[in-house]
Amino acid sequence: MIEPWMWPAALGVLGLIFGSFIATVALRWPEGRSALRGRSECDSCHRVLRAHELVPLFSYALQRGRCRACGGAIHPGHPGVEIAGALVGVAAGLVAPGWEGVAGAVFGWLLLALAALDLAAFWLPNILTGLLAVTGIVDGLFFDPGWPDRILGGLLGFGLLYLVAFTYAHVRGREGLGGGDPKMFGGIGLWLGATMLAPVLLAASLIGLAAALAIRISGRKMEMTSRLPLGTLLAVAAFPAWLYSTGI
Ligand SMILES: [Zn+2]
Repeated sequence: MIEPWMWPAALGVLGLIFGSFIATVALRWPEGRSALRGRSECDSCHRVLRAHELVPLFSYALQRGRCRACGGAIHPGHPGVEIAGALVGVAAGLVAPGWEGVAGAVFGWLLLALAALDLAAFWLPNILTGLLAVTGIVDGLFFDPGWPDRILGGLLGFGLLYLVAFTYAHVRGREGLGGGDPKMFGGIGLWLGATMLAPVLLAASLIGLAAALAIRISGRKMEMTSRLPLGTLLAVAAFPAWLYSTGI
């Protein structure tokens, strides 16, 4: 017998594990190291980690954020993304205890992976934006919103950002948006439907504005040519939008 509380609990634990994997991929990628091949190792001394050092969050807390051998700091991105992965799972399980919640958690974890990679390396890989689109279509076989809304959302989301990127590149003579942004927004449209695109884009812009202000206030340089990881902003806006539209 599955009790309702088991969904958020199980998805929270799964989220810790996925978060741990996502953080490793995102932090290793800019250095050209693969997280898929090779054993998990310390980022400082490259010592292969043992099983008890790989428990998400708990190992970090027990070792006070440092490697046991060399004392090198463990990147705070590891516990950060692990906590985010767990929160995504718990929130999805609470809003929709059942398979719809599992689907929502998958949406959230894909967004988390895209957000982390865009933040760390300005990179939205086709395999992930493609998965976002495919899972959005599969989700549509079982849950709301309906097909017209989803298909329109996919087309509008991709088309809108593609047009922005195309126009900007021609007017300014350089790329302002990454090629993955339109694909990612199209995938979000397939998940949430066309009606949620405007609120998601607005929220992403406001979060970006707030982040830019915070960077300014903290005294760091912010250039007009500085690229914002739009994929990260879209992800941060899109998952709460799923929670909202599924919860009501
Ligand atoms: Zn070490």
